[in-house]
Amino acid sequence: MRTVYLDNNATSRTAPEVLQEMLPFFGKLYGNPSSMHTFGGQVGKFVTLARARAAAALGASPEEIVFTSCGTESDNTAIRAAIEALPAKRHIVTTRVEHPAVLNLAKHLEKKGFDVTYLGVDESGRLDLDELAASLRKDTAIVSVMYANNETGVVFPIPEIAQLTRERGILLHVDAVQAVGKIPIDLARLPVDYLALSGHKLHAPKGVGALYVRKGAPFRPFMIGGHQEKGRRAGTENTAAIVALGKACELAAANIAEETTKVAALRDRLERGLLAAAPESRVNGDTDHRLPNTTNISFKYVEGEAILLLLDALGVCASSGSACTSGSLEPSHVLRAMGVPFTYAHGSIRFSLSRYNTVEDVDLVVEKLPGIIARLRQISPFGRAEGAACDADAGKTD
Ligand code: PLP
Repeated sequence: MRTVYLDNNATSRTAPEVLQEMLPFFGKLYGNPSSMHTFGGQVGKFVTLARARAAAALGASPEEIVFTSCGTESDNTAIRAAIEALPAKRHIVTTRVEHPAVLNLAKHLEKKGFDVTYLGVDESGRLDLDELAASLRKDTAIVSVMYANNETGVVFPIPEIAQLTRERGILLHVDAVQAVGKIPIDLARLPVDYLALSGHKLHAPKGVGALYVRKGAPFRPFMIGGHQEKGRRAGTENTAAIVALGKACELAAANIAEETTKVAALRDRLERGLLAAAPESRVNGDTDHRLPNTTNISFKYVEGEAILLLLDALGVCASSGSACTSGSLEPSHVLRAMGVPFTYAHGSIRFSLSRYNTVEDVDLVVEKLPGIIARLRQISPFGRAEGAACDADAGKTD
């Protein structure tokens, strides 16, 4: 059975060009890039090239790129760097729709005595910039907001947010894990202090990420040990994965136009087809400010997980906006923050495409999914669905 992979916000296929570039580092190029000898030094040159490629893709300088193990580490490093560097400032601003990499760190810091403001969003997943401005205080150490939401694809107005923080001299961290490679980002013209990205979301392998640290921004290493990454991230470099991330960034920058035309056209074809064929369905999130590859669609009166299982039987991979381990399904924190009605939120499915998808992929889903929805509606448990709350984020993969 053919796999139709529409779950690229969870993780993406390693690009063949990326894989090709990494392979020598599992073979003859096994030296330690920090070694004094020529054998190690030759590997160091490829790490330098990867740094230059990642920087170029973002409009940054190579010295502003710190390689990490994943997006989560990058997010944690940025926020912890800011609060450690500014011990007198005990206030953090973030949003209710962040990824757990930020949200759960914020909750952890709250328990340690930090004051955290969680900004809400409207029914389209948009932030209120006046509310954000009003939340900023003299003791605000850092604002941490995502560039694009992993569940809905909604893009936050980062230039406007950066202006607000910059005017007040407050540090800004942007979780751009879902945005890098999908929409253009030019840090030369965007005054953010820290920006996180992750390899496996942009066709590099899992286990590598990067953090952009603006020149002059306060920094404290999260990983303490050796002097790798100029003392900013200890631990022997994952050279193959770093090389891969560099290549993936280069490819992503070259593919941005394709992403916003070809991929968006496929996404729109899927969305239009499903909305037309499945009655009582709706798109969640601001469709005017959205990643080109993502659509989050709710089908009233059905359970997302049931839809996923039936899609899975056809070889189609997608994600649902609800997850549960204990009986009743609870919508995701993102859909709850947006106030998506209960009967819709339960039946929400996220499709996230990539440059590797085809018209055939999309048409298969448009052909099969409306029948699945109709069948599930006949046996819908809703109306009987009230019960114990469950951990909405259990089992989530992105
Ligand atoms: N931030 C966002 C918005 C994400 O979507 C993800 C992963 O899904 C992360 C952070 C964490 O990235 P990683 O899986 O590389 O730790």
